[in-house]
Amino acid sequence: MHSELSLQHDISLRPFNTFGIEARARHYLRVTAAGQLHHALHDPALAALPRLVLGGGSNLLLTGDFDGLVLHIASTGKEVLAGDADHVHVRAAAGENWHEFVQWTLAQGLGGLENLALIPGTVGAAPIQNIGAYGLETKDVFHSLTAYDPTIGAELTLDAAACRFAYRDSVFKHDDGRHLIITSVTFALPRAWQPNLRYAELATALAEQGIAAPTPRQVANTVIAIRQRKLPDPRVIGNAGSFFKNPVVSAAQCAALLARYPALVHHRQPDGSEKLAAGWLIDQCGWKGRNLGAAGVYPKQALVLVNNGGATGDDVRRLARAIQDDVEARYGVRLEPEPVFV
Ligand SMILES: Cc1cc2nc3c(=O)[nH]c(=O)nc-3n(C[C@H](O)[C@H](O)[C@H](O)COP(=O)(O)OP(=O)(O)OC[C@H]3O[C@@H](n4cnc5c(N)ncnc54)[C@H](O)[C@@H]3O)c2cc1C
Repeated sequence: MHSELSLQHDISLRPFNTFGIEARARHYLRVTAAGQLHHALHDPALAALPRLVLGGGSNLLLTGDFDGLVLHIASTGKEVLAGDADHVHVRAAAGENWHEFVQWTLAQGLGGLENLALIPGTVGAAPIQNIGAYGLETKDVFHSLTAYDPTIGAELTLDAAACRFAYRDSVFKHDDGRHLIITSVTFALPRAWQPNLRYAELATALAEQGIAAPTPRQVANTVIAIRQRKLPDPRVIGNAGSFFKNPVVSAAQCAALLARYPALVHHRQPDGSEKLAAGWLIDQCGWKGRNLGAAGVYPKQALVLVNNGGATGDDVRRLARAIQDDVEARYGVRLEPEPVFV
């Protein structure tokens, strides 16, 4: 059965992760159609191997060679579906580039995804950590997805409830969903579009351009400009975006911290808990712009760890631990990494 699949062996994963970290995969399959998954995972030899599903590699930290099968999701295709009275539905294959998909929806005259412009990676990975930015999360525009379940050898359809979306989280990061391989995602975009300007920096940037009633395209362009100003381009400096999640603490813990650190940046959540700004905590511990070996903290944004050239996954992991330890010693909060460690 191997011969029917274009399996490759001992290949470098460096071009396939935005940190630009060198690691090798024992077996590698570029998956351009969902049927190939079924084919590959019905091969007893391949199915028994440890498996890494890879999209754009923009939320991964490779900590060593991968002694198993990498399934690189590269399926393409996108379409506008009928939808319902309030929403137009758009569907894309898992391997589509996320930002190109957002641009394509805008070109169709459809608003709804513009706040998530320029996030790297694939459409199929967007639900995994419920990607979010500038006041919008995947769950807000999600309709359903299809996923291949290797345990039953068939595709399933999951709605939003089944995906159990939460802040940077979903069922796909937990034991009952980790085995699923997302093959396509359908979004529900509002027919009566309104700009989402909840995020103050975005509203201000539009106002500064004299735009009072923005179009989806103007919102997207403004998001793109802000992101380009604040975040390193992975093609130039290896990184995986925000390296830590913003920690959520109880109201009581937040009050105790505020008594000691009145400048603490915090945002009340609908359930009464408080979300702290991980970047602020890291900055206060003096880490912004500091390096540890070939890994460093981006000078313009303390939440982003970077590969200054030739860093290994262990370099980045060591730096991350040093930051976690310092923040915990000072604030009693353990930062949780956002990227998946492989
Ligand atoms: C510069 C930069 C900025 C970023 N900004 C943001 C941001 O604003 N908001 C945000 O939320 N994230 C952000 N990220 C993180 C990242 O872009 C997203 O998490 C993105 O969705 C990852 O997509 P990917 O295809 O690269 O996933 P990968 O890194 O390839 O994979 C991530 C995880 O998803 C799994 N996976 C991937 N595809 C599938 C699939 N089809 N089925 C099942 N599992 C799969 C992988 O196994 C892995 O566990 C940023 C990253 C960078 C480098």
